Amino acid sequence: MPDFMDAVQDRVLAETEAAVAAQTQRAQGRTHCAAHDCGEPISPERTALGAQFCMDCQRGEEAREVHFRTWGRR
Ligand SMILES: [Zn+2]
Repeated sequence: MPDFMDAVQDRVLAETEAAVAAQTQRAQGRTHCAAHDCGEPISPERTALGAQFCMDCQRGEEAREVHFRTWGRR
């Protein structure tokens, strides 16, 4: 069934391309801070590294993670 196989191959190819596009978008990060009410521009270098937050908010996120981990241990 060559027609059927072609259709499957086309769909797999389209899904792969979509997955790659999503991955690329994630890997590139954001150009502006994702934090609520912030929206600070993120430097292209950090965007390329997959940054989601500006430097200040990133620090805040990390501090909160440490806080949760500390409490989780009790
Ligand atoms: Zn921010």
